[in-house]
Amino acid sequence: MKYQLVNVEQHELLAKGICERVGSAEAFHKHGLDKNEEVIDAKMADHDDAMALVLESLTSGPAKAIDSLDEIDAVGHRIVQGGKYFDRSVLIDDDVIQKIDELAELAPLHNKAALMGINACLKHMPDVPMVAVFDTSFFQTLPPKAYMYPLPYELYEKYAIRKYGAHGTSHRYISERAAVVLDEPLDELKLITCHLGNGCSMSAIDHGVAVDTSMGLTPLDGLMMGTRCGAVDPAIVPFIMDHEGLSTSEVNDLMNKKSGLLGISGISNDLRSVRDASEKGDERAMLAYDMYSNSVKKYIGQYIAVMGGVDAIVLTAGVGENCEKMRRMIFTGLQPLGIILDEEKNRQRGFEREISADSSQVKIIIIPTNEEYMIARDTYEIVHEQMRVDGAVFDEEPALA
Ligand code: ADP
Repeated sequence: MKYQLVNVEQHELLAKGICERVGSAEAFHKHGLDKNEEVIDAKMADHDDAMALVLESLTSGPAKAIDSLDEIDAVGHRIVQGGKYFDRSVLIDDDVIQKIDELAELAPLHNKAALMGINACLKHMPDVPMVAVFDTSFFQTLPPKAYMYPLPYELYEKYAIRKYGAHGTSHRYISERAAVVLDEPLDELKLITCHLGNGCSMSAIDHGVAVDTSMGLTPLDGLMMGTRCGAVDPAIVPFIMDHEGLSTSEVNDLMNKKSGLLGISGISNDLRSVRDASEKGDERAMLAYDMYSNSVKKYIGQYIAVMGGVDAIVLTAGVGENCEKMRRMIFTGLQPLGIILDEEKNRQRGFEREISADSSQVKIIIIPTNEEYMIARDTYEIVHEQMRVDGAVFDEEPALA
């Protein structure tokens, strides 16, 4: 369970932390900003216990950020699957909770965990308004030709099987920031956004509107990832089940947790370990690098075709922001498409930055993602609007930093 306490008006991060391995004997809690971060071994039987620890750390102890919970005006929750119901963030009420639960079938691990977080907040802060920010809502603008699968139409009608996408909050954030960095209005740009972390996804954003994305009904589709296989020939699934005698949940596990960089390299899902092994000549590690970069390259080609061109390619997350070798491999050979990486800029470290050559027609930019800020900003705007509707009086109009 990851969290941040944010003063949205001042664009200020007050505290952050994470409760890891909730429910296991090895559970621990990291809390505090970089300089005063502390790691606490803590017993957390469930998300409810974890939430109690988080709230205690926010209001007491060496890294406390506020004097009392009364200072928290609202809570924003990241929800992976919003299905067809949510094309934007919403205030959480009983109906929203019921729909998040109903959609859990499409994201079982994530939506159920999010509900535990919502219920824990309801218990500990019953009067604080809460907002749900969905990973899928940014992609509700996809046209049917992009979100439909060529399966019998009745399956769509019966089960709503279609592409929903994921990582939408990140793609929305980096596309907005890219427009600022490029100093062009977002609605005049064709962007390809690449979130390359443990989970990986790419999107085509045409004049500010998402028109295609690589993740599908679930976050398993699309690019090769840390432990997920991404798109494979669907006939492989029944083949493996038959030949290895696997159940549906076992084959699901194999594709979600044992594939990708880990499955190919046999070393790790962490690209740093795969890189170290590839530099020592490990052939499977080299193959993993080749396959990963090739899968990103192919989506770049697809999305240029979908949008009829591209103005900028935006990279984010652990691999996109930090791995100079992967970026070099992705962009090698794309010069005929007007995409030229500047080797020197690619080596430099920094925050938001351009790494394309001056002669490149297409800009390549790195934007560190900030999903938490997006969640906090949506929450601020929705709760503020609700207070206005409810007739709350403001001394002065709050301004977003
Ligand atoms: P998540 O999707 O879990 O939020 P991150 O965005 O933190 O993931 O990305 C994790 C991935 O980023 C890992 O594969 C990790 O190896 C990779 N990564 C982080 N830093 C570097 C680096 N300096 N060089 C290469 N890969 C890196």
